[in-house]
Amino acid sequence: MAEIKQLKAIYCRDFGYDCNAVMKGRNPDEAIDAVVKHFVSMHGNSVRDLQTPEKRAEIGAKIKDWEAPPKNG
Ligand SMILES: [Zn+2]
Repeated sequence: MAEIKQLKAIYCRDFGYDCNAVMKGRNPDEAIDAVVKHFVSMHGNSVRDLQTPEKRAEIGAKIKDWEAPPKNG
């Protein structure tokens, strides 16, 4: 297995949803795609509204570096 690269993560609650979902990707595009899918399937948003460059940029602005939760605790 290749070394695991730093993943990108986007937290659903950063968009004001009462939701614990975290969407991860190996790069920003992948993470944004995961968020779009999640918003459509879980929050009833429309794909058309989410696939605009403005909306993707807005989602991309919330990207953080994923840190795996500590094993203990
Ligand atoms: Zn959510």
